[in-house]
Amino acid sequence: MTGRMVIIGNGPATAEAIEAIRKFSPDASITVLNKEPWPAYSPCPLALYGWNEAPDYAQARGEWGEKHPDERIPQMLGIPREGLYWKGGMEFYQRHNVDLRLSMPARSIDTERKVVVAENGEEFEWDKLLIAAGATTFWVPIPGLAEARDKGLAHAFKTIEDADSVVDHLRDPDRASARALVMGSGPIGIEASETLRGWGVDVTMVELVDTVLPVMTDADSSDILKKHMEDHGRMRVITSQGAKEVVFNDDGSLTGVEVGDLGLIECDLIINSAGQRPNTWLCDGTDIEVAERGGILVDQYMRTSNPDVFSAGDVAQFFDVVGVQRMIPLWPNAVVGGRIAGFNMVGKPVFNKGGIDANAVNVFELPIAAGGSPKAEHDETLIGRNADTWVKMYLKDNIVVGFTAIGTVREQELNLDAYNLPAEQMEEIRSAFARSQNREGAGLEGNGIFYTLLRRKQVLCDEMKELIRQGDFRTGSFRALFAIDRHDFVRLPDRVGVRGQEICPR
Ligand SMILES: Cc1cc2nc3c(=O)[nH]c(=O)nc-3n(C[C@H](O)[C@H](O)[C@H](O)COP(=O)(O)OP(=O)(O)OC[C@H]3O[C@@H](n4cnc5c(N)ncnc54)[C@H](O)[C@@H]3O)c2cc1C
Repeated sequence: MTGRMVIIGNGPATAEAIEAIRKFSPDASITVLNKEPWPAYSPCPLALYGWNEAPDYAQARGEWGEKHPDERIPQMLGIPREGLYWKGGMEFYQRHNVDLRLSMPARSIDTERKVVVAENGEEFEWDKLLIAAGATTFWVPIPGLAEARDKGLAHAFKTIEDADSVVDHLRDPDRASARALVMGSGPIGIEASETLRGWGVDVTMVELVDTVLPVMTDADSSDILKKHMEDHGRMRVITSQGAKEVVFNDDGSLTGVEVGDLGLIECDLIINSAGQRPNTWLCDGTDIEVAERGGILVDQYMRTSNPDVFSAGDVAQFFDVVGVQRMIPLWPNAVVGGRIAGFNMVGKPVFNKGGIDANAVNVFELPIAAGGSPKAEHDETLIGRNADTWVKMYLKDNIVVGFTAIGTVREQELNLDAYNLPAEQMEEIRSAFARSQNREGAGLEGNGIFYTLLRRKQVLCDEMKELIRQGDFRTGSFRALFAIDRHDFVRLPDRVGVRGQEICPR
């Protein structure tokens, strides 16, 4: 299909959509309007970028405990801006013949005339439109916070510009920066705290609800993380208290922040990581449906209520794997959604099988991975631990609906001794196991086994449950059970061996 494709936003969803469009349509015109001045980049390593020129990072990392198994991370510390660019920077747009308009935010959409109006009044006509404008940091309306932001004393930590403004503050001799208050304990707040600790700043984190990293934890896992952040990150973590008011000195510098019933907490700078809001305002006055307090509603083809308008990434609200239409503001969903939108924009019907809510964060060298939700309805909870890893898994009707795993599942030997399998099937399992081993990455990659159970909506047999309870998270053990289950190679053995013990008599 040829025609005019216009895309608002320039994150991962857009980059994937461009590739998908070009795969089937070398002739369509593609115009991308982007608010920011950069080519597509990944904000995921912003904490590492924010370490740029940090004087104390080596010392701080030494205090954080065991080194992360991913040895690329030290090399990435202080990565240059270009190191964040995804798909190779400007060359990507030239290669795909894209008219990229940088620093040109879209102001409004007219679906009747089929035009996007840019902030400067320029109009862009489209046959198909993709809205992939992501989300914007939400500035909690407490007294003084907007003023602190406007004075360069409160910063977000979402974009390159935000990270630059934090680093500028830390370098600026005219702005004090010995003590920071971080609002919100989500991944962005935690990553910003690491950057600040790397610069030797004292950090107090304030979280309104009673758990840290609330989307990914329950009370038990939150306690483990909180203690780790205090003991290894040497920061103060306060839960169940909200920031109420920002207080200034007579000279305009910060006195601190009034917090819940704790009174004034003194600080020199504030990081606002208390939430994001999808940029759905772009749809105001159009026939594009937006969920109340949610994102742009799309179907499985990433199509909005207007058949010529698509949406993907953090601004969109799409179906998850269990068919619930909701927002999952994570990188993999933006990538998959963008690609599917691109295919459908050029008339190739491709179906999104559903987004998945799974994320990993490296908290002061301690990886935590979570999938599904600890808050999902469940009727059984499994807890397992070994020397490296602590896992809580939530089941409904024996199907995994959520998990939280703290620590890294390290490469482990494959033990198929307990299974009386024919040699060729042993070999098949061994090679699948070898392919599944990936020691790089923070959490999900290391804890891929739990992610796989969730993604497959795996019904756990008693042996699998027992493996988890026993703290045996060996991919090999699970793979053997999967394989037996799936291919019915042999009947399950009478007893399954776990670390030399006999469990699960049948
Ligand atoms: C610090 C940080 C760390 C993260 N770490 C992880 C992680 O470890 N794992 C993970 O899965 N996810 C992570 N995420 C989330 C992940 O980066 C997002 O889910 C993903 O970037 C969303 O992609 P997107 O395509 O929707 O757009 P975004 O990346 O949000 O980009 C939106 C684009 O739209 C542009 N835009 C906005 N408004 C307009 C307008 N009016 N006109 C034109 N352009 C506009 C913006 O300038 C931007 O280019 C992290 C996010 C942050 C901020």
